[in-house]
Amino acid sequence: MKFDDRNRRGSRGASILILFVVLLLIAAGAGLAFTYKRLEGQPPTIALDHDFKTLGRSSALNVKVEDAGTGLKAVTIRLKQKDSEVVLVDESFDKSSAEKTKSYDVGKLIAEKTKIQEGPASLEVSATDYSLRSFTRGNHGSLTKDFAFDIYPPRLEVLTGQHYINQGGSECVVYRIGDDAVVSGVQAGPHFFPGFPLSGADKNVRFALFALAYDLPADTPIKVVARDDAGNESVSEFWKKVFPKAFRSRDILLEDSFVQKVVSEIMPHSPTMRDQGEPIKTFVELNSKLRRENHDMIAKLAKESPGQFLWNGAFLQLSNSKVESYFADRRTYMYQGKAVDQQDHVGFDLSVTQQYPIEAANDGKVVLADYFGIYGNTVLIDHGAGMISLYGHLSSINVKPGQTVKKKDIIGKSGATGMAGGDHLHFGLFLQGVPINATEWWDAKWIQDHVLDRLKTTS
Ligand SMILES: [Zn+2]
Repeated sequence: MKFDDRNRRGSRGASILILFVVLLLIAAGAGLAFTYKRLEGQPPTIALDHDFKTLGRSSALNVKVEDAGTGLKAVTIRLKQKDSEVVLVDESFDKSSAEKTKSYDVGKLIAEKTKIQEGPASLEVSATDYSLRSFTRGNHGSLTKDFAFDIYPPRLEVLTGQHYINQGGSECVVYRIGDDAVVSGVQAGPHFFPGFPLSGADKNVRFALFALAYDLPADTPIKVVARDDAGNESVSEFWKKVFPKAFRSRDILLEDSFVQKVVSEIMPHSPTMRDQGEPIKTFVELNSKLRRENHDMIAKLAKESPGQFLWNGAFLQLSNSKVESYFADRRTYMYQGKAVDQQDHVGFDLSVTQQYPIEAANDGKVVLADYFGIYGNTVLIDHGAGMISLYGHLSSINVKPGQTVKKKDIIGKSGATGMAGGDHLHFGLFLQGVPINATEWWDAKWIQDHVLDRLKTTS
C-alpha cells in the first residue's frame, strides 16, 4: 500500500512537472512566435496612386504607405527642388495604435507647403515599422520619385477671325498649340469638342468643329482650351457672334392605339427599360429615359470617330422629301387632356411615300445598323471628326456596321418602326453627341464659309 501510495504521489508529482513543462513550452513558443512576428522582415510598402513625369500647380497625387505586419512607426515625405527642401509629412505613430495604412494627399500638401519652381524636383517618401529587426529600429521602406514641375500652360493661339454661330448650329475654329499640349478643343458650356490635326498644315495646328446646343443660352461661354500633361490649362477667347433662335412648340396628342403600338414594339428590344404598370407610364419612361440612353450611345460612338472628314460637299436632304417636323421642336405630349411629358425633337421628320429608299446624306462609315430604341430600325453613319447622322423609323436596313458608304447610297427603306405614328424618315445630325441643326450642313455655301474656308487659315 505504502509503495502504491508513494508511487501514486510520485506519479502525481511527475504529472504536475509535465504540466508545468508543457505550459512553459507553450509560453515560450508563444513568446517566440510573438518575437518572431515582431521580427518580421517586411518593410512598409509605399505606392503612388499614378505614375507621372510632370506635376503642375494643382496636380492630384496620393501616396499610400502600408505595413501589414507590425504596423507603421514613422513616415516622412520630403520634396526637393533646386535650392529648397520642404518636409511635407513627418509623423510618428504610437506602438499601441500602430497604423497599418496611411494615405497622404501629397498634391494638396505640395500646393499648401511649397513654393513651386519650374524644373526638376524629387519626392522622397520614407517609412519604418515596429519590427524588432535592425536592433529594434524596424524595417525601412523608401521611394524616390524624380519628376519636373511644369507650371506654365501650353501656348495657344486662335488663327481664325470671325465666327458666326446660330443657336443649335455649328461652327469651326482653327488654332495653334504648343508642343506640350496633350488635349485641346472647344468648351461650349458643358460640351467639349476636341480639336484634330489639320492635314497639310504644321503639326501644331488644330481644327475643332463645335456646336452651341439649341437648349443652351445664347450667352453660353465658348472658349478654346489646351491642357498639358501636368494639367495646366490655357484658355483663349475668340471673336464670335451668336444668333439666338426661337424654336417651335407643338402638342402631340397621344391615342391609346399609338401608345400600345409603341410600348409593345419597343419594350422587347429594350432590356434596360422597366414596365411601369400602365402603358402610358411605360410610354413616358421610353420617351424620356430610352431617348436619353439612345443619345448617350451616339455620344459614345462619336468618341471613336476618326479625326478627319469622311464627308464630301453638302449633306443631302432626302430626295423629294417634305419636312413634316423641324429641328428642336418642343413637344408636349397630351394624354386624355393632360400634359404627360415634354421632349425636344432633335432632328427633321421627312416624308415622301411609304417604304421610300433612304439615301446616305454624305460619305461615311456605318457605325450602327440595328433596332435603336425610340428610333426603331436605325442606321448611324460616322462622317468623321465627331459628326454622326441618324436615319430612324426604317422598315428595312440594307447596310452593315463597318461598311463604308457614299453619298446617295441606299441604306434602307422608310417605315414607322419605333416611336413613329406613320411612315417617314427621322433624320438627325449630331456633333460629339450634341444634336445640331442639319439645315446648315444641307447648304453648300454655309459649309464653304463656315468650315472649308476656315481650314485654309493656317498661319
Ligand atoms: Zn422625328
